[in-house]
Amino acid sequence: MVKPFIPQLVYMEPRALEYALGKQLKQKFEGLGIEIRETTSHNQVRNLPGENHFQQYRIAKSTLVIGVRKTLKFDTSKPSAEYAIPLATGCMGHCHYCYLQTTMGNKPYIRTYVNVDEIFEASTKYMEERAPETTRFEASCTSDIVGVDHLTHSLKRAIEFFGESKYGKLRFVTKFAHVDHLLDARHNGKTRFRFSMNADYVIKYLEPGTSRLDERIEAAVKVANAGYPLGFIVAPIYLYDGWKEGYKELFEKLEAKLPAFAKKDLTFELIQHRFTKPAKRTIEKNYPMTKLEMDETKRQYKWGKYGIGKYVYKKEEQEDMKETLGGYIEKYLPEGKFEYFT
Ligand code: SF4
Repeated sequence: MVKPFIPQLVYMEPRALEYALGKQLKQKFEGLGIEIRETTSHNQVRNLPGENHFQQYRIAKSTLVIGVRKTLKFDTSKPSAEYAIPLATGCMGHCHYCYLQTTMGNKPYIRTYVNVDEIFEASTKYMEERAPETTRFEASCTSDIVGVDHLTHSLKRAIEFFGESKYGKLRFVTKFAHVDHLLDARHNGKTRFRFSMNADYVIKYLEPGTSRLDERIEAAVKVANAGYPLGFIVAPIYLYDGWKEGYKELFEKLEAKLPAFAKKDLTFELIQHRFTKPAKRTIEKNYPMTKLEMDETKRQYKWGKYGIGKYVYKKEEQEDMKETLGGYIEKYLPEGKFEYFT
């Protein structure tokens, strides 16, 4: 069982102490006896302990930087939402395929932002611009926000903030089962709580440091019982020997465990595994023993933005995945809504 995340090392930007959350977090980590270092900016986080890249990478993944979010211009977040709401970046998980390895480069530590009210104010402006259309905000574009939220409760505040909003909705996805503090949040049905699910094999070999399949399902049941609309992202869909059986077991388990009412309002997003050449090099450096198969000759090349294309599965394999998993949704959770396959 993966325990709730506690950082090994904490960095604090002095400005963070001007905010109540900054002060609270400082006290909390002092109480826990965790070393707190001061840094003028997260870019100054240097000299992390560790003798080589491998060790430093691991220490960085359990380092928390408490700071103030300066850019209050939100990125867009298609296809699942209009905007990405920046409450945190980085993640303590060690999924071998994770895109954060390339997007965060040599700064893989976790950052949390204490100016939560300013972030909410910015989101109000975005909602006003689009009103009376609904504006959806995605909270997990650059982190697994649930994984760190038991420490900060900023996600919980966001859930309640959007719960009271007229035109706003919130969504996020997680691979962590530490959801208890979110169960009594006044969400008013405006947050779609999604879990990233996969075949047991993928979770076991490619997603170390995250909650196991049964724990995630148990957490999904709690979330459903707390009245949240529920969703699943099956990602990355990965072809290994016996994948059809593995994914079938996943759907059988969901069918058996989820309460009947939750099955009526479920969403599914299906995303196949993909990698880029730079990502492959980084993954091989960070996880040299990985079982993750990244053989370009077995894949199809898909042109991408900025000239960095990705390797996806071949057309017939994609069809097979879509039909197989789509078929499981129809068979086991027929009221679930299949949103997209990509
Ligand atoms: Fe990346 Fe998500 Fe795994 Fe964290 S849990 S390492 S964000 S894939």
